[in-house]
Amino acid sequence: NEVLHLSGLKKTYKKGLPGEIRVLDGLDIAVSSGESVALVAPSGAGKSTLLHIAGLLDKPDEGVVEIAGQTASGLDDAGRTALRRRDIGFVYQFHHLLPEFSALENIVLPQLANGTSDRAARSRAMELLGTVGIAPRADHRPAALSGGEQQRVAFCRALANQPRLLLADEPTGNLDPETSEQVFGALMKLVREAGLAALVATHNPELAARMGRTVHLSGGRLI
Ligand code: ADP
Ligand code: ADP
Repeated sequence: NEVLHLSGLKKTYKKGLPGEIRVLDGLDIAVSSGESVALVAPSGAGKSTLLHIAGLLDKPDEGVVEIAGQTASGLDDAGRTALRRRDIGFVYQFHHLLPEFSALENIVLPQLANGTSDRAARSRAMELLGTVGIAPRADHRPAALSGGEQQRVAFCRALANQPRLLLADEPTGNLDPETSEQVFGALMKLVREAGLAALVATHNPELAARMGRTVHLSGGRLI
C-alpha cells in the first residue's frame, strides 16, 4: 500500500551555468501507509528539494512522483494542488499558525475550507488536540502557548483533513532537546494512530531511531 513512490528523480539547479548544482541524481524511495521514514542529510544535501518535490511544490527535471497511486506528472497545476490538499500534510520547523485564531480554530479552518461541517471540524480538532495532550489549551492563541505546544497544534492542523502522507522538515528543530523528545513523541503518536506514511527530515539521530527506518541523502541518492 504505497502512498509515496519516487523513482529516478533528478534535479539540477543552474543547469548548464557555472556553479551548476546537481542535487538529486536518480533518487528512489517508496513509503507505505503505516511506515515512518527518517530522512537524514547534512545541510545543503538536498533534503528541502526532495521534500518539496515529494509534496508537489516543485518538479523534478526527470523521474516519477506518485502519490497514493496517482502520477503527478500527468496533472496540471490545479490537479497537483488538489492532490496535495487531499493527501499530503506538511509540518515545518516553525509552526506557521495564524496568530489571531485559537489553537482549535487553527485546526478547524482548513477543514471548513475542505467542506467539512463546523460541528464535525471542531470535534475532530478536539480529538487531535487530545491525542497530543493539549486539549485544555484549545482556546488559547498561539502566542499564549509554549513552543512545544505550538508545534503540537501545527501537527494537528497538518492532519486535520486526514491526509495519507505526512512530510516534515525538522519538525522539532526549534525546540530544546527535552521538549523536542516529547513533542516528537506526540507526532509519532498521531502518525501511528492515523496509519500515515511519514517522511520526516531530522538531524537528530535519537529521534531518527524512533522511526521505522532511516535513509541518508548523499550524492543525490538515498542510502
Ligand atoms: P537542504 O535542505 O538539504 O539544506 P536544499 O534542497 O535546500 O538542501 O539545497 C540543496 C542545494 O541546492 C544547495 O546547494 C542549495 O544551495 C541549492 N539550491 C536549493 N534551491 C536552489 C534554487 N532554487 N536555486 C539554486 N540553487 C538552489
Ligand atoms: P533549509 O533547508 O535550511 O530550510 P532552504 O531550503 O531555504 O533552507 O535553503 C537551503 C539552501 O538553498 C540555502 O543555502 C539557500 O541559500 C539555498 N537556496 C534556497 N533557495 C535558493 C534560490 N532560489 N537560489 C539560490 N539558492 C537558494
